[in-house]
Amino acid sequence: MAVLLDGKVLSEKRMEELKARVDTLRARGKTVGLAVILVGENPASQVYVRNKGKACEGLGIRGDTILLPEQTSQEELEALIEKLNQDECVDGILVQLPLPKHLDEAKALALISPDKDVDGFHVENAGRLFTGQPGVTACTPKGILAMLKAWNVPLAGKEAVVIGRSNIVGKPVAMLLLNENCTVTICHSRTADLAAHTRRADILVAAVGKPRFITAGMVKPGAAVVDVGINRVDGKVVGDVDFESVEKVAGYISPVPGGVGKMTICMLMENVIEAAERKAN
Ligand code: NDP
Repeated sequence: MAVLLDGKVLSEKRMEELKARVDTLRARGKTVGLAVILVGENPASQVYVRNKGKACEGLGIRGDTILLPEQTSQEELEALIEKLNQDECVDGILVQLPLPKHLDEAKALALISPDKDVDGFHVENAGRLFTGQPGVTACTPKGILAMLKAWNVPLAGKEAVVIGRSNIVGKPVAMLLLNENCTVTICHSRTADLAAHTRRADILVAAVGKPRFITAGMVKPGAAVVDVGINRVDGKVVGDVDFESVEKVAGYISPVPGGVGKMTICMLMENVIEAAERKAN
């Protein structure tokens, strides 16, 4: 049976450490602030935003959620981002994705000051990751790496296979694993013979968005399998990995829920606190 990469337990431990950092800042007269912009009424986004608000509350971070109507114009959204960029009380700005179709996501993200870009989606921060310079790293990839390290999963020289090439998960996690000296393969919907790649993986990261897509036959015995997927099936949240069959083959496996999702929020809080610390110093 695989060792559980328990994101709940790890994130709770990390949150305690983060709380101490918030307290230290407060003792120096500095409160930490995150502004979350939610445009429209996407139900999944509403849940994510609520969870981020709760995490802020638990740490003593000021979390302001700004709700904008579905029909908000690009100009209105950009004016708000500009205002938050100037706001001394705001250390981090997060635009909840996806935005309604009529809005230009890339243009909105590019406007966020890279220092306040706590999601790490700004091209400057993505570029910093790709060129090995310090910057803000995207929360989900950062959380995945934190998990692998917390359980001492060997990385250097190992074969890592990432399924998915999005800008928010697949590409940045591949880059982080490369920086850890893994030999990295990125697979996607046009990959020929996906299983031939996944079966070679010592570390397998599934960020596909297809329920129980990875089955035991696709996994190398002993591999560390990280399940990023969040899929709703019959009212239940399931990952991209068929947990029941894969846990019998893998060496390590992250559950859904209680895995990467918990770490993502924790890393968001860390990015906000780091932004506040940078400013305070
Ligand atoms: P995207 O839809 O942007 O990317 C999915 C990727 O999967 C694409 O690169 C796509 O390939 C690839 N893909 C699709 N079908 C196949 C296939 N049959 N074989 C191989 N590859 C395939 O999703 P995201 O990266 O944004 O998210 C992925 C999943 O992770 C989702 O379930 C999402 O909800 C979840 N997620 C979870 C987070 C968390 O905190 N736990 C945070 C962010 C996302 P192609 O590029 O060719 O289309």
